[in-house]
Amino acid sequence: MLLNHRQSSLSFHAELYNMIPEHHILKRVNKHVDFSFIYDLVKDSYCTYYGRPANEPEILFRLLFIQFLYGLSDERVIEDTQVNLAYKWFLGLNPEEPLPNASQLSRFRRHRLGVNKIEKVLEHIVKQCVDKGLIKSTALILDSTHTLANATKDKPLDVLKKAANRIIRSVKKQHRKLYQKLPKFPKLEGTEQEQAKQLLHYLSDLTDQVQEKLPDAEGSLKEKIDIAKQIVEDERLLTNKGISSAIDPDARFGRKSKNKSFYGYKNHIAMTEEEIITSVHVTPGNEDDGKQLKKLVNNTKEQELPIKEVLADTAYSAKENLTYLQEKVIVASIPLNPAVYGTREDNHFQYDKENDEVICPAGHSSIRKAKTGKKGQGTNQVLTFYFDTNLCHLCPLREGCYKGTKEKTYSISIKSEEHQQQMRYLTSDEYKSRKGIRNRIEHKNAELKNVHGLIRAKYRGQFGMQIQAILTAFVVNAKRMIKLEKALFSS
Ligand code: SF4
Repeated sequence: MLLNHRQSSLSFHAELYNMIPEHHILKRVNKHVDFSFIYDLVKDSYCTYYGRPANEPEILFRLLFIQFLYGLSDERVIEDTQVNLAYKWFLGLNPEEPLPNASQLSRFRRHRLGVNKIEKVLEHIVKQCVDKGLIKSTALILDSTHTLANATKDKPLDVLKKAANRIIRSVKKQHRKLYQKLPKFPKLEGTEQEQAKQLLHYLSDLTDQVQEKLPDAEGSLKEKIDIAKQIVEDERLLTNKGISSAIDPDARFGRKSKNKSFYGYKNHIAMTEEEIITSVHVTPGNEDDGKQLKKLVNNTKEQELPIKEVLADTAYSAKENLTYLQEKVIVASIPLNPAVYGTREDNHFQYDKENDEVICPAGHSSIRKAKTGKKGQGTNQVLTFYFDTNLCHLCPLREGCYKGTKEKTYSISIKSEEHQQQMRYLTSDEYKSRKGIRNRIEHKNAELKNVHGLIRAKYRGQFGMQIQAILTAFVVNAKRMIKLEKALFSS
C-alpha cells in the first residue's frame, strides 16, 4: 500500500521549526526543487492493495538527498535526522514523528528506483532547469572522473579463495546440515598458477552444489553465488586481466594519467555550459572515455536539449566520434590526440613531400616505406618509413634515436578527411574562443568527488555505483539550480 500525501497537519512541536534560518541550504532546496515527481516514478513498484503501509516515496527520496548532500551512510542519515530539526522539516514530518529505518533506504534505492528509473531521476531535475529557462546554451561538455572501488584488488588465487570462503561461511551460518555435505577446501599444491586452477575447479563444483541444493537462495547468499559464477566464467581471470575482487567483481584497474592508476570505476559525465549535469554513465575503470561520447550525447538529446557543440579532451577525438558529430551537425571542439596531430617528441624527422620519404635528424633519407591498417575501420592508417641501420650504427646522433635493433623506423599517421577537417577547425578563432569552457567540468568533478564523496564507492558493483553517481549528480544539480535561479531573478 502506498501513501501519496506528505504529513500536512502541524503539531504543537512544529513551532521549533521557526528556529531554522531562511538561508539554510535545505530551505532553499525545498523552495527551488520539486521532489513530487518521485511518486509517479516509483508507484508501479508498489502493490496497490496488499502489504503493510509503505513510507511515502518522497520522504525516502528526500532522505537520500540529505544523505548525498552531506555524505552520510544509511544508518547515519536516520540517526542524524532524528535529532536535526532542519533535516526533519525538509522531510515534511513533525518533530515527534518516527522515521523509516535504514534498511528501507537501501531497498528503495535498489528495488524501487532500480537501474532504469535512477536515470529518470536525473532527467527530472534537468527538465525542471529547462522549464525554468535556466539552460540556454547548446554546448555539451564531456569528461570522465574516477571513483575508487569499495574493495581491494586481489590476485586471482586470492579472489578464488575469498569467493569460496564467502559462500562456505554463509552456508555454515544459514544451512548447517548442507554445510557438512559441501566439498572440502582442497589442499593446494604446485605453483600459484596451478593452485589457482585447482581452486577454480573447486569453486565451480562448490557453486553448482550449493545452487542445486538451494535453488531458491536469496539475499546475500544469492549475491555470493552469482559473483562466484561470474568469477568461474571469467576467461581472463587467470591472466590477471579479469575480475580482481570477490566482493566487487565489476571494478577494474584504470589509468588516471601516464604514471597513475586506480582500481574502481569511471563516471562519464555530460554537462551543459551552465554546469547542469545532463547524463552520467558509469563503467569499470578500464573503459575507454572516447567510446562513451555517443551515449552521453544521445542521452542528452533525448531530453530535448538541442546540442550544437561538444567540448571534450583528446580522448574523445577518435575518427568515428568526429564522423558521428559531423552527421548530427554538431561542432566538435575537441583537440586531436598528438598521435594524430603528428606532434611527437622526435619531430626532427621531416617528411619530404616531393620524394615521398622522410629525412632523419642526421640528414639521411628513408630507404623504403610500408602502409599498415585498413581504410574505413575507424582508425587512421599508418605509413612506416625504414632507415639504413648501417648508417645508424655509425651515427653520432644515435643516442635516443636508435637502439641497435634490426630495423630503424619512423611512422606517420595518414590523417583521415575527418581529422584533416578537424585540424583546420582547431586553428580557427572560433575554437580558440571556446576551448577554455571545457575546464568548467574540472570544477564539477572536484565538487562531485571532494564535497559529495564520489571519490570512493559507497556501494559495490556497477549498478550500485550508477546509483551513487546519479544521486550525487542530482544533489549537485539542485545546488546549481538554486544559484542559476537566483542569478536569473537578480539580473
Ligand atoms: S640514428 Fe639513424 S635514423 Fe637516427 S639520426 Fe642517426 S642515421 Fe638518422
